[in-house]
Amino acid sequence: MFDIEKMKQEIPVVADIAAAKEVAWINPKKEAFEKAAAKMELSRKDMDDAEARLKRFAPLIMKVFPETADRGGIIESELTEIPKMKQLLKEQYGADLRDARLFLKRDSDLAVAGSVKARGGIYEVLKHSEDLAIEAGILSGYEDDYTKLASPDARAFFSARKVQVGSTGNLGVSIGMMSAALGYQAIVHMSADAKQWKKDYLRAHGVTVVEYAGDYGKAVAQGRAESDADPMSYFVDDENSRDLFMGYSVAAERLDGQLKAQGVTVDEDHPLFVYIPCGVGGAPGGVTFGLKELYGDNVHVFFAEPVQACCMLIGLATGLHSKISVQDIGLSGQTHADGLAVGRPSGFVGGVMEPLLSGEVTVEDARLYDYMRALYDSEGLFIEPSSCAAFEGAVAAGKAAEFRSYIEENGLTGKMDQASHIVWATGGKLVPQPVRDVFMGTHL
Ligand SMILES: *Cc1c(COP(=O)(O)O)cnc(C)c1O
Repeated sequence: MFDIEKMKQEIPVVADIAAAKEVAWINPKKEAFEKAAAKMELSRKDMDDAEARLKRFAPLIMKVFPETADRGGIIESELTEIPKMKQLLKEQYGADLRDARLFLKRDSDLAVAGSVKARGGIYEVLKHSEDLAIEAGILSGYEDDYTKLASPDARAFFSARKVQVGSTGNLGVSIGMMSAALGYQAIVHMSADAKQWKKDYLRAHGVTVVEYAGDYGKAVAQGRAESDADPMSYFVDDENSRDLFMGYSVAAERLDGQLKAQGVTVDEDHPLFVYIPCGVGGAPGGVTFGLKELYGDNVHVFFAEPVQACCMLIGLATGLHSKISVQDIGLSGQTHADGLAVGRPSGFVGGVMEPLLSGEVTVEDARLYDYMRALYDSEGLFIEPSSCAAFEGAVAAGKAAEFRSYIEENGLTGKMDQASHIVWATGGKLVPQPVRDVFMGTHL
């Protein structure tokens, strides 16, 4: 279907990607933010709208998930400085971040879903529920008391309806938990990569799990077909959903407050570098969108993907987005990073990222376990292997030639001592101890 040999000649990085090498790629299509923003279908207004919706729902969230009470029903994670890990990356990986500060954004500990998916997944279920409840007169409007949605009448209303999603695991947990908590019949279509404990966890919380032998793409296609055939069913479309994307974007404004509290400035002289693991693209894309809206050209975002499942990278590097899969260039799509085991990227997200994203790194599975142990040994923090892909970005920033050129070309050479780096930890809290023990002992 594609002339891969020709592609490799025209776009040299494609040859390295197809050979499953670790690469650091700088996006040649990135534009000045102002120019990029003028062409975008989504804006700051959409973000503010999402933030306002989450505030309206906070009293309800607190009621159905009492563990969120300490934050008043707002699901948010800590930003933790990790200086010992910074030192370790220098000593063991030769990554010199100079006098910059290194932080971990701990979405790995987000309430309810234990992963970054708590942002987008929960938001989409809430928005859908708000739409239904207003239409049915259960809520009189945005000013009404949203805790009414936990009443027996509202539960009866939701229990006649279904919410379905296809997932490699964590999105299913997020959508499943929120849907089941409101009373919906929640159905999660899980790909073969999905971990057994996630299926067990969902079933224990009243969610129906349908298992597929094939990959993520199959689970999504089947789930969608079943949902579309049922007028009382709503399907969460991980690849194209604007709602999911906007739910993720809200992270940016929350982070801004946390950075200020830590004494971090983000401006022309104090660049912010952010590294986020990428699967289909929605979560890192939404977070990136929010960060660019807030900080414009002063934030530099890089995605991290497994060498065998770097679907967003191949889509961006070739400009083919969702028209190309990792299998098309001879990669397997298989990885220990179950949250990132996606062979074809979201075309919607790829299009939005094209002028915004600074670049990408890819990482071998073996390294994920090494970074996981390194973080645990140095800082006493546990995050799941998929999350650890983000460390590869911080390492590349501190040593890769491609990053040095990027820093030079963006006029940042003299500013890197005043920079801040954020490794976005995307999952981990719900991983059971026996599974953590297995991860800790895994050496590939
Ligand atoms: C889903 C997931 C990601 C990536 O999100 P996408 O929306 O698929 O790109 C990253 N890390 C973890 C742990 C995830 O579960």
